[in-house]
Amino acid sequence: MNNAIADQIEALLPQTQCQKCGYQGCKPYAQAISRQQADINQCPPGGQQGIRALSELLDVPEKPLNPQFGTEQPRAVAVIIEQDCIGCTKCLPPCPVDAIIGASKQMHTVISSACTGCELCVAPCPVDCIIMQPITNDATLSAWNKEKADLAKLRYQQKTNRLAQLKTAKLQRLQKQKQMLQKLKPPPS
Ligand code: SF4
Ligand code: SF4
Ligand code: SF4
Repeated sequence: MNNAIADQIEALLPQTQCQKCGYQGCKPYAQAISRQQADINQCPPGGQQGIRALSELLDVPEKPLNPQFGTEQPRAVAVIIEQDCIGCTKCLPPCPVDAIIGASKQMHTVISSACTGCELCVAPCPVDCIIMQPITNDATLSAWNKEKADLAKLRYQQKTNRLAQLKTAKLQRLQKQKQMLQKLKPPPS
């Protein structure tokens, strides 16, 4: 894979990390395009403006957004109807940018300025108390500037790093427990 091209493609993607393109985030989609395993018209948040930028970068013909992956929508942010929230925490893991704050059995709330509008928190909520509120009438990318994309990318990387550290710490703990159990085992008679 050509990492330099994948990086240039990723820099043109909106970084909402919504997975609508069929990949786990903007980076894997960029990598798939660079390997010619994905087409340039699979990102609804990027919309036609994003497809045009990709077609210019890769010197391939522009094409319409593939409706199989969604349509351009006004930019929206998630809002939690706080009086209905039961504090189950199920919306926390799916949020790619840690834009929801809350703890078990406590009311949760969305940090609007960090929300990318990805909608990934909506389905897991068992009481349907998360709604998407449009905040612009424009197609998404025109209301989603580079500053917001950079912030979303940073928050996504921070969450990814945090999860990786937790996983490493858990593996180390298990390894230590295993070694302790082995030491406690009676020697073979
Ligand atoms: S914004 Fe969503 S659809 Fe577009 S590349 Fe990123 S994850 Fe895929
Ligand atoms: S709060 Fe919901 S819609 Fe907003 S970024 Fe997090 S998961 Fe996506
Ligand atoms: S999933 Fe819904 S009910 Fe559960 S904490 Fe999140 S907003 Fe509250």
